[in-house]
Amino acid sequence: MDFTDKRVLITGGSRGIGQACAIAFARGGAKVAVNYRSNAAAAEATLGGLAGSGHVALRADVSDPVEVESLVAAAVEALGGLDILVNNAGIWVEHKLEEVDYDGWREAWRRVLEVNLVGPANVCYCAARHMIGAGGGRIVNVSSRGSFRGEPDGPAYGASKAGLNAMSQSLAKRLAPHGITVGVVAPGFVDTDMAARYRESPMWADIMSQSPYGRVARPEEVAAAVLFLASDGAEFSTGTIIDVNGASYLRT
Ligand code: NAP
Repeated sequence: MDFTDKRVLITGGSRGIGQACAIAFARGGAKVAVNYRSNAAAAEATLGGLAGSGHVALRADVSDPVEVESLVAAAVEALGGLDILVNNAGIWVEHKLEEVDYDGWREAWRRVLEVNLVGPANVCYCAARHMIGAGGGRIVNVSSRGSFRGEPDGPAYGASKAGLNAMSQSLAKRLAPHGITVGVVAPGFVDTDMAARYRESPMWADIMSQSPYGRVARPEEVAAAVLFLASDGAEFSTGTIIDVNGASYLRT
């Protein structure tokens, strides 16, 4: 897919799905700002593997509204503008209701909603305000199958992603008159560090059997859907949620 001269900011672009997006956008000719929270070495390694030039690594915690504002400003300055935002950074925190105490329960909800929902909302705000002035853009938010199927071990995660879906669809309507599209990609299990806690567990075989393909997704397969929603031709797909779960969960 051709992204020549497009300027892309990817939150959590240093590892996993975000890294796969960075690689694919750069291969398509884009200039990429790779955001990360703490692992600078991973961000630099990702940057070093990108095709083309003009890419940059930017540290910021998306749950911090001040850092978000600086992140978007730094991306605009480093790339010379911003055409595409991929809100990909996210965390998983286990908090089974019968097992955590009340403090642990409240802390899980606070942290997960801050990183997975309020943070992306703030990145959308800052990026869209720039895009409005620039005449348009593309926003793609990375959600999860758990937003539809439920997350009994981490209900705040499921709720954060359901909220992200709803926010994206609201913004798709709000921003269409400004030439800005907002789409969502909702993966099932993807073979990244986030899923690593299950890889060595007895649950892994069961997880793989959830899809008739007998495997989980590769990060590049999620990136392919992200790139479609970020492409010039995806205007009328705004508000869409694309499932990338190997038919492991079919919603109607
Ligand atoms: P991952 O491998 O754990 O990578 C997470 C990335 O997000 C890293 O670049 C990390 O940077 C960054 N990050 C984490 N917290 C951040 C914060 N507060 N501010 C800025 N960056 C932050 O994750 P992944 O599996 O690729 O997941 C990416 C997205 O896909 C997430 O939104 C996740 O919920 C969603 N998803 C994943 C799966 C799955 O099975 N893997 C399934 C469905 C949906 P540092 O390394 O510097 O901390």
